[in-house]
Amino acid sequence: MGPPARPSPFIGRIRILSDNVANKIAAGEVVERPASVVKELLENSLDAGATDLRIAIEAGGRRLLRIADNGCGMVRDDALLAFERHATSKLSNVDELESIATLGFRGEALPSIASVSRLLLETRSASEATGTRVEIAGGKLLACEETAFPQGTTITVRDLFFNVPARKKFLRTEQTELAHIASLVTHYSLAHPGKSFELTHSGKELLRVDPVATPRERVFQIFGAAVLDELIELPVHTAQQGRFQLSGFISRPQIQKSNRNSLFLFVNRRLIRDRLLLHAISAAYHNLMPPAAYPFALLQIDCDPGEVDVNVHPSKTEIRFRAGSFVHDFVRDALRESLIAARPVPAAPPPVSPLPEPVAQPGARLPYSEFSQQLENFTFDQASAAAEPRNVLPDPILQPPPAPPRRFDFHAAPPIPVGLPEPAVEPLRLKVPDTHAGFPDGALIDAPQSMASLTDLRVLGQIHDSFIVAAGRDGLWIIDQHVAHERILFEQVLRQQQRGQVEQQRLLLPIVLPLTPAQQIEYERIAGDLESAGFETEPFGNRTIAVKAAPAGLSPADLERAVYEILEIAETELRKVSVDDLRRGIAASLACRAAIKINTPLEPSKMDWLLRELARTQYPMSCPHGRPVALRYATRDILKSFHRI
Ligand code: ADP
Ligand code: MG
Repeated sequence: MGPPARPSPFIGRIRILSDNVANKIAAGEVVERPASVVKELLENSLDAGATDLRIAIEAGGRRLLRIADNGCGMVRDDALLAFERHATSKLSNVDELESIATLGFRGEALPSIASVSRLLLETRSASEATGTRVEIAGGKLLACEETAFPQGTTITVRDLFFNVPARKKFLRTEQTELAHIASLVTHYSLAHPGKSFELTHSGKELLRVDPVATPRERVFQIFGAAVLDELIELPVHTAQQGRFQLSGFISRPQIQKSNRNSLFLFVNRRLIRDRLLLHAISAAYHNLMPPAAYPFALLQIDCDPGEVDVNVHPSKTEIRFRAGSFVHDFVRDALRESLIAARPVPAAPPPVSPLPEPVAQPGARLPYSEFSQQLENFTFDQASAAAEPRNVLPDPILQPPPAPPRRFDFHAAPPIPVGLPEPAVEPLRLKVPDTHAGFPDGALIDAPQSMASLTDLRVLGQIHDSFIVAAGRDGLWIIDQHVAHERILFEQVLRQQQRGQVEQQRLLLPIVLPLTPAQQIEYERIAGDLESAGFETEPFGNRTIAVKAAPAGLSPADLERAVYEILEIAETELRKVSVDDLRRGIAASLACRAAIKINTPLEPSKMDWLLRELARTQYPMSCPHGRPVALRYATRDILKSFHRI
């Protein structure tokens, strides 16, 4: 007789999962990474009425996460109960789910976190003389005892995912995880200006803010005076007899971020990611900002808890507004109104900052000397440029446009000469994939002959002090002077970086730049790249760096912008982690800062020089950001339009 037939695993019986298994499954949704633990614990502390929140992290949160608060604490029975699934003090019946005023309500976080880590809870409620200490590892209760403890709660989470190796593998580098945590704590501190927050990493302080009276002061504490200056504080907007309130800060349109990291959205002080609100923000900036750019926005919406459904997603970052389209339009219009009200009066362009002295020694053509030499070539009559108020076309990214919409109106309508059929005007694109610029695949083809024909262009003149008009063998060309110079400089900077021969200018006085916690983390990560790009920087006290030397050719204001822009690029690169991308990003940023601006009258000789240099570049037809450099009206199309062929 053989062994008794075993039941097939597929013809099973339905079983109820043990709590421990259920918790681990729930942890999969709630605890994605160390930052999600910080989020849940911070929210619990805020719900407990804490006014002082201290977060300590080690090894990006993998080794240790500790959150200490001075909130209401828990009585002994609750301290144990808190780890039961669906145990919450915040909700008792289903009707209340309609009007949740606390950040938590699902009673899932603590059991989930405790099931995938070694957790220690220390707490004392004001109503009890002694505190409680509960120790749990991988969901198993190890100890529960009395302990002396001040009022409040401290939760220490060690060895996250120690018992879920598959999960652990998906964790990113320490710096990445830390960046997520820093961004999260920064967000919460912005929503709660009246509370103090502290974040340390391996004992090093990343953020410390004392309680302040207004959101404005908190923005100042976190971002510093320079950012605050660039922001518009929204007056409190109300709608539906005060049922909805909107307040916060938004940036002027010239502040353009390459990612959404600077959008801080809170609904009833809950940090959220909401497509509807994101859309409302882009709608407010429509035509004021290119579609791929994002502003800075810190928005607080307060409304009756019944107006939002927060129970849409386990991590509670998604919400649903009952009156979605109303909220969308309310936010869009409020933002738009403030943007219009804050529009600066058109004024004369600022005086052009002096260009640096060329540092080239005769004979020695150091890479950066070439660079400075070119800048020298571009020196133009500053007196006339500054004295005469002109109608200014804003410079892309750099120069704050006096009347923001102009730029995009302008770009929206390409200059098409009367009588010429539209298709004749074509941004020239390269056939060769531009490995140096991340050129989009499948670009339009117009390569070898147009590249060659660039060499014998004859300058006819300049229009709008911004575009060079030139005659070529194959037609009429219009070249964007800023973008063309940007391309030239970009390739030079890259070459110089590769050779390690970046020419620096030493600053008489170091420039001290304040950093946000997230920027501080990026700074530590890319300090080496900054150095090889020609920046000599060093930490200078708490969350500030001193810039002592910078690539030649940058004015102090440009230099400051370049450093911040590079940190922003680094933040975006976090997701891709490519040293090459970062290096190209730095080169693009430096090139854009140093390139000749539009609205700059140029001597014919300078225009000649610019076209010659452009012809020598490897990829002359697009700027490092992918914008076209030139438009060409082919002779054939001109002839056709005049009915000559
Ligand atoms: P939820 O927040 O959804 O209620 P949690 O699992 O996050 O669920 O927390 C369970 C319960 O533990 C909370 O309802 C609360 O009563 C208690 N609790 C958790 N953290 C704290 C804290 N820091 N201070 C006081 N009570 C807390
Ligand atoms: Mg909670």
